[in-house]
Amino acid sequence: MNLKDTIRTIPDFPVKGIMFRDITTLMTNRHAYHASIVQLCQPYEDLKIDNVAGIEARGFTFAGAMADRLGAGFVPIRKAGKLPGDVYSQSYDLEYGSDILEIHADAIRGQEKVVLVDDLIATGGTAVAAVKLLRKTGAKIVGAAFVVNLPELGGLKKIAAMGIPVTALVSFDGH
Ligand code: AMP
Repeated sequence: MNLKDTIRTIPDFPVKGIMFRDITTLMTNRHAYHASIVQLCQPYEDLKIDNVAGIEARGFTFAGAMADRLGAGFVPIRKAGKLPGDVYSQSYDLEYGSDILEIHADAIRGQEKVVLVDDLIATGGTAVAAVKLLRKTGAKIVGAAFVVNLPELGGLKKIAAMGIPVTALVSFDGH
């Protein structure tokens, strides 16, 4: 199973110059989707993970399945204004634009072991904001896992430089 071949590239979406790596074609392939969940979980199988934190929205589709496989809970990290309880907020820059992420202030109890998950890491702006939010909750971040890495944009290295073990299943050249 070559996961990379199941990911479709759409040029100039959502703006000109972006090569959009579309993981919906991986997800609709049952074998590829299952293989991606197994591979994403592999480093964490024996670590007794408490929670898997997924970043809205495409991160949810992998983080939820991972949480169930790891016997862990699921924590949503959402765009501003979506979570109903008390939240921590963090602004961040995207490859295209800027935004705010939030997490429920009581989502993590004490020093729980958490894995952070998103579909794709580009500049790392989104994931760095998610790491800052998880650290505000007191979580112990034991790893960050991504389906796709765009190495030329340097995001994965930024997360590793924050002292977090990183994994990505597939890499694409360029933006
Ligand atoms: P970044 O904050 O630059 O690491 O961007 C990561 C977020 O933006 C992820 O949640 C992705 O879903 C989305 N994203 C950024 N660039 C791309 C791309 N080239 N193809 C698909 N999604 C992207």
